[in-house]
Formats: sequence, C-alpha cells, structure tokens
Amino acid sequence: MDGKLIIFSAPSGSGKTTIVRHLLAENTNLGFSISACTRDRRGRAEQNGKDYYFLTPDEFKHKIDAGEFVEWEEVYVGAFYGTLKSEIERLWASGKHVLFDVDVQGGLKLKKYYGDKALAVFVRVPDEETLRQRLIGRGTETEDSLSKRLFKVHFEMSFQDQFDVVLVNDDLQTSFRKAQKLVDDFVSEGKVPERGAIL
Ligand code: ADP
Ligand code: 5GP
Repeated sequence: MDGKLIIFSAPSGSGKTTIVRHLLAENTNLGFSISACTRDRRGRAEQNGKDYYFLTPDEFKHKIDAGEFVEWEEVYVGAFYGTLKSEIERLWASGKHVLFDVDVQGGLKLKKYYGDKALAVFVRVPDEETLRQRLIGRGTETEDSLSKRLFKVHFEMSFQDQFDVVLVNDDLQTSFRKAQKLVDDFVSEGKVPERGAIL
C-alpha cells in the first residue's frame, strides 16, 4: 500500500480534534498518529497510548537526542509535543493512512518532510470570538492556558497560506463533509485542491 499522510493543523479551539475524531470513526483505513507530549494528562478524559504518549521532560529530551522524532515543538512554554518516526511506521505497517492533529509549525514541518505524500489542511473558525467561545465551552482550559492559546492565534493564522487547503469550520456537519471529501480525493486519486483553496 502507498501510505499517505493527512495533516490537520489549526490554532487551538478551531475544531481539528473534533474533525479528526469524526474521520477516524468513519474511515477504517485511517489511523491516528499518537503524539508524544510533556503536558499533564486531562484526568480521565485522556489515556496514555491512546490520546498521547505522556512523557516526562527528561524522557522527551532523551528521544530528541536519539533522533526519534520526525518533528517536535515547544507548542506552549514548557509543553513539548512531537511526532515519533516509529508511530508513522507502525500505522503504515498496519495498512493505514496516517491522520495528524498537530500544531501549525509541526504541520508545516511534516508537509515539508513528506511532500506529495502529505495533504496539509489548515482548519480555522469564522472569527476570533467564535474561537474564544469554543475554547471556553470545551471546559478544558484554565484562565492561564486560555490566554496562552489565544495569544498564539494571530501568529498561527499567518501561516495558513502555506497549507494545501484551508477548511473553515463553521457548521460542523458541513465541515465533516468537506473533510471527508478531501480525504477521499487525496487517498484514492492523490487529488489536492487548487492552491489557496478555502473551503
Ligand atoms: P482543537 O482540537 O482545534 O483545539 P476541538 O476539536 O477541541 O479544537 O474543538 C474546540 C471546541 O469547539 C470543542 O468543545 C468542540 O466540541 C467545539 N466545536 C468544534 N467544531 C465546532 C463547530 N463547528 N461548531 C460548534 N462547536 C464546535
Ligand atoms: P492539546 O494540549 O490541546 O492536546 O494540544 C496542544 C497543541 O499541540 C494542539 O495544537 C495540538 O494539535 C498540538 N500537537 C499535538 N501533537 C503534536 C505533535 O506531535 N507535534 C506538534 N508540533 N504539535 C502537536
């Protein structure tokens, strides 16, 4: 099988995890790239080895030194996230195309590394107030982590033109359909939308 990669990146709160989870539930030929990270687990809502590989900062640094990451980022001060080479190999070996939920910088690094084998999708909300409301509504953020996430939004938005396609996540069911079509076209025919397309 010609294993492909589909990358979803976005400012936090834009809906990439929601879209990625939906695609995984609907497509048995897709597998999720479980990232390594050093942030704390969100209680029972997250499991080690399913949502993330939760590592200590020392374990993470050791893997950087050993060259085990295809990309890694300090996404927020003191919080490291990265994609393990072994994860992509594991999923390809099981016959799956790999789906990523990574930050904007990480998404661009993966796209650069894998080129035409990868489709890089930038997810964005219609406006910033919607983003704030969604982050608050998710109920996962403290005041501090909320402001860290909102602080990064403008910087992250400035990279959207470098992605293959921008998906505006307004009505969720419509977004699911747009994402599914992107995956279908890319996986079956290697089709990528016209440069600069905003869906
Ligand atoms: P991200 O992974 O980009 O940080 P999430 O997928 O966690 O974002 O979405 C942030 C919050 O917004 C979640 O509570 C999610 O249920 C909600 N959400 C996502 N997409 C939509 C949408 N189209 N309309 C309304 N709420 C949404
Ligand atoms: P969260 O803490 O909300 O789970 O994730 C914070 C941010 O880190 C999100 O934007 C998420 O997409 C990103 N992220 C998750 N895994 C990786 C990864 O492996 N590499 C990079 N660069 N970012 C990641």
